[in-house]
Amino acid sequence: MNLVFLGAPGSGKGTQAGRLALRLAASHLATGDLLRAAVSTGSNLGRQAEAFMNAGELVPDEVIIGLIVEKQRMGELNGGFILDGFPRTLPQATALEKMCAEVGAGIDRAVLLEVEDDEIVRRLSGRLYCTRCQAGYNVHHDGSRPQAEGVCDRCHGPLTRRGDDDAGVIRNRVQVFRSQIRPIAEYYRSQSVLLTIAGNGTPDEVFSRISEGLGLE
Ligand code: AMP
Repeated sequence: MNLVFLGAPGSGKGTQAGRLALRLAASHLATGDLLRAAVSTGSNLGRQAEAFMNAGELVPDEVIIGLIVEKQRMGELNGGFILDGFPRTLPQATALEKMCAEVGAGIDRAVLLEVEDDEIVRRLSGRLYCTRCQAGYNVHHDGSRPQAEGVCDRCHGPLTRRGDDDAGVIRNRVQVFRSQIRPIAEYYRSQSVLLTIAGNGTPDEVFSRISEGLGLE
């Protein structure tokens, strides 16, 4: 199954896409994670993306489309994929469609996770990740608080906040999302593949809504 996950930053799309990828044995490609890895290694891609990411703006289409095309060439999209955070613009959506058509595939479902803006800001402001193993935590959620403050449960590495989870940048990222999502949602709705899921509640509750919506239960 080929899926795209759409949702505001903090909507839980990364968590849900990761869980679903395990369940479906599909590749999970999160463009935000790929870009952050590129920034931390100082690669050419990272240098092109960093300033946009720090400001909460989208990286230019040609940069991000180039990244996905490269992943496809490397065979990372063979055998089913879940794209998380891509597409975010119409040119990205049409480039993806073209890329899939070239290998006789298509997008089976576009899952849109809907969460209220206030909840998004609350979730993002509590988010922490481990600088060593990248494990994610949230100090506002009972099930995902680290056991010791500022320390990773898994590897004892130091926890930090993402640079773009700063209050001003969060607001910009949410605005950017709201301004881009309508045409993308329409694009997938017109192809009868849009699945809108309420993203409120616990990760388990959201996962079971998604599974039901995809007919996996
Ligand atoms: P995320 O982790 O999905 O919230 O993405 C973090 C940042 O990476 C975004 O704020 C953008 O700057 C950049 N980014 C991730 N995916 C895309 C995309 N599909 N198009 C443009 N920029 C992206």
